[in-house]
Amino acid sequence: MSTFTLPLAGRAGQLVGSVIDSSTSLLAAQRHDVVRFAMGSPAAEFVPVGVFNDIAATVHDASSYAYGATEGEPRLLRALLGHLATTPEPSSSDRITITSGGMQGLDLACKLFVDPGDLVVVESPTYTNGSATALSYGARLLEVPMDADGLDVDELERLVAESGRTPKAIYTIPNFQNPSGTTLSTPRRIRLIELARRWNAVIIDDDPYGLLRFDGEDLAGFRELSGNDPLVFSVRTFSKILAPGLRVGWVDADPSLRQLVINAKQAMDTCANVPAQHVVAEFILRGGLDAHLDRLRVEYRRRKEAMMASLHRHLAGRIRTTDPEGGFFLWVTLLGEDAAVDTRRLFEIALAEGVAFIPGPALSAGGRFADAFRLCFASSDPERTDVGVRRLAAALDLARAE
Ligand code: PMP
Repeated sequence: MSTFTLPLAGRAGQLVGSVIDSSTSLLAAQRHDVVRFAMGSPAAEFVPVGVFNDIAATVHDASSYAYGATEGEPRLLRALLGHLATTPEPSSSDRITITSGGMQGLDLACKLFVDPGDLVVVESPTYTNGSATALSYGARLLEVPMDADGLDVDELERLVAESGRTPKAIYTIPNFQNPSGTTLSTPRRIRLIELARRWNAVIIDDDPYGLLRFDGEDLAGFRELSGNDPLVFSVRTFSKILAPGLRVGWVDADPSLRQLVINAKQAMDTCANVPAQHVVAEFILRGGLDAHLDRLRVEYRRRKEAMMASLHRHLAGRIRTTDPEGGFFLWVTLLGEDAAVDTRRLFEIALAEGVAFIPGPALSAGGRFADAFRLCFASSDPERTDVGVRRLAAALDLARAE
C-alpha cells in the first residue's frame, strides 16, 4: 500500500471544529435519558410545527423548489422588513440579504473582512463557532474579558495597545450573550463604536437573541447608536425565534456592501433553502410571529427562573451564576473547593448521571474557564430542569470525591 499525504490547503489546518455542535451527535448516541442543557435549542414544544405543516401543504407548484434569488425570496424580504418595522431595529430592502442561518452571516462577514493574519477581537467567553469562523479565514484572535456589563472596553483598548496591532474586526454578541447571558451596556456600546471607528474595524454584531428579552428594557443597537455606520455588520437568524433546522437568517449591512455580500453568497450556496424561506414568510405574513415571540418571552422567563431556583435548591453556596434578562443561557462558575473541579471532567461524569452542559473551555478561544460551564435553560420545562440540576449536583459530588 502506498502512503501519501492529501494535498490539503493550509486553511484546512485552521478548521477547529465545534464542541457545541458535536454535543448534538454525542447526545443522539446516548441510550439513556439525558437532560439537555447543552445545545442552544429552542424548546421543541414551542416550535409551531402545525402551522409550518399547513403552510408547507399549500405549496403546489415547482417554482417553490426552483433556485431562488440570492438576496432572498421577495415575499420573505417583504415580510421580514414589515416585522422589523415593529421592532427597535427597522431596516430597508437595500440592507438585507437572507442567509442560510446565522452561521452563514458570520462566514460572510469574515470572508469580506478577514485576511490571513488579521487580528479579530472576540469576547471571553464567546460563541466559539463564531470565533472558529474567523479562524477558518486565518484570523489571529484577541480574547477580551467580560463582566456583568458585557465586553470590558477598557481592557479591550489596553490589550489592543499591548498587542501593538490594530484589529480588523470586533466580534460581539451584545444581547444575552452566548454563553455568558450578559448584555453589553449602552455606554460600552458607544465606546465600542468609537474604538471601531478609530481602528477602522468592522463590528460583527451577532444578535440571535435580541428579540427574546423577557426582563428590563430594550437597548439601542449598534446601528442606531452609530447612525447607520457602515462599520456595523449585523448577523441575525430565525433559529432561536422559530426553529434552527430551517436554516434561515439574514444579514443587515451597509448598502455599499450589498453586492459583495451577494457575490460571496453566490460562491457558497446560490440561495438559502427556498421552501424554508416560504414557510418563514407565510408564518410572518399570517401574523403569527408577534404572538409567538410574546409566548416565548413569557415561557423563557419562567424557565430561567425555574433554573435559578433549582440551582439555588441543589447547589447553593457552591456556584455563582449570571442573571440574564433574555435569551437562552446561564453561565455558572464553581466556587470554593468545587472550583478545583475541571468542568471537562465534570461533563463526563454528568453525562453518565444523565445531564449535559457545555464546559467552559469549549466556549473560550484559548480554552479558559475550566471552572465554569454554560447551561441552556430554554429547552427544558421546569420539572425536567429540576431533575437535571439534581443530577448535576450529584455529578459535582462525584467529581469532588475523585
Ligand atoms: N451566533 C450565536 C451567538 C449563536 O448562539 C448561534 C446559534 N447557536 C449562531 C450564531 C448560529 O445561528 P444559526 O443556527 O442560525 O446558524
